[in-house]
Amino acid sequence: MPFRCTPGMKAPVETLSEKPWTIAIKPFQVSPRTWYVAGQTWVGCYLIDTGDGLLLIDTAIPESLYMLVDSIYALGYKPTDIKKILISHAHFDHMGAAAAMRELTGAPIYMSREDAKFMAECPEETMIPQSGSHCQYFTPDEFYDDDRPVTLGDISVKTLLTPGHTIGCTSFFWEEKNPVTGETYVVAMHGGVGANTMNDGYYATSKYLTPDLRDRFLADVEVLKKMRVDIALPSHPNQITITDRAGSYTHESQPFLDGTVWADFLTERARQVTELMK
Ligand SMILES: [Zn+2]
Repeated sequence: MPFRCTPGMKAPVETLSEKPWTIAIKPFQVSPRTWYVAGQTWVGCYLIDTGDGLLLIDTAIPESLYMLVDSIYALGYKPTDIKKILISHAHFDHMGAAAAMRELTGAPIYMSREDAKFMAECPEETMIPQSGSHCQYFTPDEFYDDDRPVTLGDISVKTLLTPGHTIGCTSFFWEEKNPVTGETYVVAMHGGVGANTMNDGYYATSKYLTPDLRDRFLADVEVLKKMRVDIALPSHPNQITITDRAGSYTHESQPFLDGTVWADFLTERARQVTELMK
């Protein structure tokens, strides 16, 4: 299915931190080895079965943690099956529950060195204590090295520093094989594309982010667009519509397989950032 997106939810932080059950969604498979497990429809969290334990991408916030954990159990796994926790970027809505998940799983937390520093030095722009969510601070256990993929089982996640939305925003790319057809797909999630932190208004008050990050984002999009991605996953499900096909996955049908979505998604996000520069 071609690229589609929807506008952001109204009051997403209040909804997620005060009444997350109103945006509940059951876990659903998106590719041969990956499931959407956030349990809610605002912030994406993904579980990859590597054949030798699980990788978790992003955790959302403590108030919605029960939905993430319930999703993991519903798929027949348990939290301690998770061996590595990968964080896309240092915003509370993606990592606010990372510390709690480390407690539950015993798994190390990975993030970029740049965003770890951003988080440590600038809580008001990362953990956002004024958000109303009871996020927990943490120190990551491992830093990404883009020359050394994060591997587990037979899955190897290539990381790519893609700054802009934050200074250390990290995108993920990995391959999965369709067990029925034998085809190999490149699955990817861009680490963060929100224009809310890439506009002059934000830069005027930010202690940390500067307009050169926006330039870097726009330049990177031109390179990223040319990369082969067969299944593009959103870090927020409104950015690339996927919940409309929840529950429909089969290895034969591949409802999320479309090699045009990635480039169209990036083009649209660059357009949104450029629009705010006028
Ligand atoms: Zn963000």
